[in-house]
Amino acid sequence: MDEPTDDPVPASLDNEGSYVCDNCGEEIVIPLDPAEGHSQNYVEDCPVCCSPNVIHVDWDDNEARVWAEPEQDRF
Ligand SMILES: [Zn+2]
Repeated sequence: MDEPTDDPVPASLDNEGSYVCDNCGEEIVIPLDPAEGHSQNYVEDCPVCCSPNVIHVDWDDNEARVWAEPEQDRF
């Protein structure tokens, strides 16, 4: 069996989203888990430049909005 590898996945699927890393400007595709809640925030290290980003996920009907902010010392 030949299985396709490295297929580009459209970012508009509702179980995947993408954000642009604020530090390096790369578009990062991430898996999303709708079961985790309507609105999600979590910190993830950029796989390209390893800088931490705060990922925001908002579900609007079946579409997820995903964006990122650099992690900051806010306290
Ligand atoms: Zn980055």
